[in-house]
Amino acid sequence: MGFRWTKLTLTASVLSLLLYPIETAAAPKKDRAYYENRGEVVWEVPTEEKIIALTFDDGPHPEHTALILDLLKQYDAKATFFVVGNKVARFPELLKREVAEGHELANHTYTHAYLSRNLNIKKEINQTEELIYGITGQKCHLFRPPGGIFNERLIAVAKEEGYKVVLWSWHQDTKDWSSPGTRRIVDRVLKNVRNGDIVLFHDHVEGSMQTVQALETILPELRRRGYRMVTVSELIQHKKSNLLLGKPHS
Ligand code: ZN
Repeated sequence: MGFRWTKLTLTASVLSLLLYPIETAAAPKKDRAYYENRGEVVWEVPTEEKIIALTFDDGPHPEHTALILDLLKQYDAKATFFVVGNKVARFPELLKREVAEGHELANHTYTHAYLSRNLNIKKEINQTEELIYGITGQKCHLFRPPGGIFNERLIAVAKEEGYKVVLWSWHQDTKDWSSPGTRRIVDRVLKNVRNGDIVLFHDHVEGSMQTVQALETILPELRRRGYRMVTVSELIQHKKSNLLLGKPHS
């Protein structure tokens, strides 16, 4: 009897040891680290090099986008524009200019609809993708959901459609959409900047020139500090090539 009990206890222990990791793997905590490690969502790309990615959402806008493009050109900066399909349809020339000047185009839905149970994410992505392709001949690979709101379904649909979900560095949310004042936008970026940051701006803020005015200070200062401003895809690619080469990264 004693032997049998020991055997039973042992079996139970072995079983629980075997089962435990399976259980934890089946229900991992789906926080930022979970999505980041799987490479499904990008917030930033820490690197040893002085490179950062500036991103502009909700455009194109007939006046502001043109002014932003002028400034980017002046300071030899490349950026990523997360465009909204129904605006792309109205201002196709700006899209062509963005591509011609070396910037990256990315998808920010067709109607700027926030995630909801009934939202047709696939349709939102595809309508914008078709427009961008029709105007520029380019297929983009990055998707940013409005408000940065995502769930598993959104990530899965984006993936199926060939997109990686890109958000922004938490310390680089300029909140320029709320017109907080040019100085606050400038400070948010310059006081927090770290290698590999993804900075969030909007090229369409109704009735506000603060983003453009802030860039007049931010761009020359970043250049002065030795930062190279690259597209998000370049930032992601940079990390991949460093991993392949076995270069250190943090
Ligand atoms: Zn947006």
